[in-house]
Amino acid sequence: MLSNSLIELDRRHLIHPVSSYRGHEYLGVRVLKSAKGAVLTDMDGHELVDGFAGLWCVNAGYGHESIVEAAAQQMRELPYATGYFDMGSEPAIRLASELADRAPGDLDHVFFTLGGSDAVDSTVRFIRYYWHCKGQPQRDQFISIEQGYHGSSTVGAGLTALPGFHAGFGIPYSWQHKIPSHYSYRNPAGDTPEAIIQSSLAALYAKVEEIGGPERVAAFYAEPIQGSGGVLVPPKGWMKAMRDACAALDILFIADEVITGFGRTGPLFASTEDGIVPDFMTIAKGLTSGYVPMGAVLMSDRVYQVMADGAGPVAIGHGYTYSAHPVSAAVGLEVLRLYENGLLENGRRAGARLMAGLETLRDHPLVGDVRGRGMLAAIELVVNKKKKTPLPAEAAPGRRIFDRAWKSGLVIRAFANGVLGYAPPLCCTDAEIDMILDRTRKVLDATL
Ligand code: PLP
Repeated sequence: MLSNSLIELDRRHLIHPVSSYRGHEYLGVRVLKSAKGAVLTDMDGHELVDGFAGLWCVNAGYGHESIVEAAAQQMRELPYATGYFDMGSEPAIRLASELADRAPGDLDHVFFTLGGSDAVDSTVRFIRYYWHCKGQPQRDQFISIEQGYHGSSTVGAGLTALPGFHAGFGIPYSWQHKIPSHYSYRNPAGDTPEAIIQSSLAALYAKVEEIGGPERVAAFYAEPIQGSGGVLVPPKGWMKAMRDACAALDILFIADEVITGFGRTGPLFASTEDGIVPDFMTIAKGLTSGYVPMGAVLMSDRVYQVMADGAGPVAIGHGYTYSAHPVSAAVGLEVLRLYENGLLENGRRAGARLMAGLETLRDHPLVGDVRGRGMLAAIELVVNKKKKTPLPAEAAPGRRIFDRAWKSGLVIRAFANGVLGYAPPLCCTDAEIDMILDRTRKVLDATL
């Protein structure tokens, strides 16, 4: 087979992100060759429906010539321009302006990064700087949520509250704190929206007190939907309640929209639907639909003015060689045009079909929970529905289900604990959504 020599080279030389180094040596990599729309083709010509948009990022789908052309044209004209020394490029300025126009409230200022992890990392530095400017440097404690994911930079991995990102690393995060997730399906407070919201608020207030009061707390991080934690959807009103509580305590609120941005849940930003204006919003993935790397921090005017006045003429020492990269920005502009010329609308239609189809799986003996919003969804598999008993971890359900799905021509995210995640490209046709659903049912039947 064509892929055999590549598998061997990969085994010897390529370290894969978030993967078992030994497992990858034994099992071998699955090499993708090409893609169009929502369909991937591997090196051996095997076709698969991409139910996960790469890594919840190729929202526009694969093979858009206009995106390729935007990148090529920018590379011909100006492949690089630094943002240092007050220099810049037209696409970066235009993209910042377009994003500010569409973001909620006064999120008017945009700092471009290379992806989501360094966007989160940047917020931590900006927040510390902000509190110094406000004359409250003792506000140096950060709070995030169990099951949350905020990237794997050294600082962001601390805000991330998934055990695999901490075990074995031994990096101390004494200034970072967690409150329990809203995880409706397994929330000790019950499953009514009111009980969940009240218990999250109580946990936040208790944590703030434990840390030493609001005057010690710099910021609180939340995803509108916890993605990598297993697509955990908070009840309606949860984000607003938490945002309002933070405002009352004068704690900065960060909405991490790296997954939920760009049509994943329906609108361009989930925060709009949640009716909130965070102090910072982090975005990446769908910003360029994964065609080239780019992320961003959107900062409120209120925060920006404090930092600008505090620093005065002094340069604020934060930035990357590739901040505001013109090729990524040109791609971002074209992708934004596509979202607004039918993709968001198609995503909303396909999302309704996906959710309705997943709901019909509730009758399956293995399906304990179905949850999601728009084109971001999950089913949670259990051995016993009444007791909500998870699939036994020693049977490595994630890896087995992923493999079974792959062989049936479907890519999904199969979490280690038996949660199956869905985030298909927004361009999916009805037939492709139905293929995702049919293949899922077959995979579940084979897993019984
Ligand atoms: N924040 C959230 C909510 C994410 O889901 C991710 C990645 O999945 C990140 C941050 C990190 O983004 P990246 O992988 O682009 O560094």
